[in-house]
This record gives sequence, C-alpha cells and structure tokens, in this order.
Amino acid sequence: MNHTMQKLLASIRDSIGPLRELQKNADPDEKLILADVVDRLFTARELLGDIQAQMADLSSQNEKLKQTTAQRDQWISQKANFEPFRFFAGGTVMVEKDDRRSPYCRDWYCKHCFDNERRSQLQPDPRRHWEFVCPSCKTPIALYPRDQEAYNEAHNQRDPATG
Ligand SMILES: [Zn+2]
Repeated sequence: MNHTMQKLLASIRDSIGPLRELQKNADPDEKLILADVVDRLFTARELLGDIQAQMADLSSQNEKLKQTTAQRDQWISQKANFEPFRFFAGGTVMVEKDDRRSPYCRDWYCKHCFDNERRSQLQPDPRRHWEFVCPSCKTPIALYPRDQEAYNEAHNQRDPATG
C-alpha cells in the first residue's frame, strides 16, 4: 500500500513538470486552465501526504492491537490453569488446578487482581497473625481457626510464622 502511494506521488510530481512547460507557450486562456490543473495536482499531493500519515497511524495502532491480543490470548490460556478456593473464613483466592497438594499448601493468588487479568501472589501480613495480603491491591485475606487447623494439618506444622 505504501509502495502504491509512492508511485502515485511520483506520477503527480512527474506530471507537474510537463504541464509547466506547456504553460510557457500557451495562450492566456490555456495558461489559466493549466495553472488550475497544476494547483489541483498540488492539492492532490498534499491530500495523499495526509492519507500516508493516517495510514502510518493506523499501522502503529494495528501493531499495538496485535500485542494486546497476544497478551490476552496468553492470559486466557494461563487463566484456564487456575480455580477459586474459598477459605472457611469466607475469603476466596485463586490456586493452580494441576497442583495436587491441599489448597492450603499451594500458592494463593489474589482473586480481585485475577479478575483484572493480573496474577498477584498473596503474602503473609507481618502485622497481623493469620492474615494474608495482596501486594498489588492490598486486599487482606484472613484465616479463621478452621482454616488455621487445615493449614497446619496440610503443612504438618504448628504455625506458618514459626513453623
Ligand atoms: Zn490483589
């Protein structure tokens, strides 16, 4: 397409020279007509320049869209490997499906961030016992005694902080 545009611009440019030559020996009426034709050719050349700029714009937008689509496709295939896990305390996290260990032993990903197409692994909140927090959106997830028992059982230890 850009090549076609270049040829078009070149052909307009090549037409202007001969028309100017004709103008030299033309009678006054013909000169006016030829001058008008040359003007129109200049206008056409400018418009083609605008179209070229718009095409360059579209092409860069297209590249960005391709990237976004590729990222989305990647996310959709990643997303399929996760499932929600709900604690007794009520909070829900995302865990990897093919990890066959207890959900209490798997990595926990923030559901809120996951819904916004981002993976963010929850971390223990150093200020609150049995609370985890998303480093991205700061959503806290608390574990109640039943979760704590299940956690300890799954990890075969007494406490995530001291164990
Ligand atoms: Zn989050």
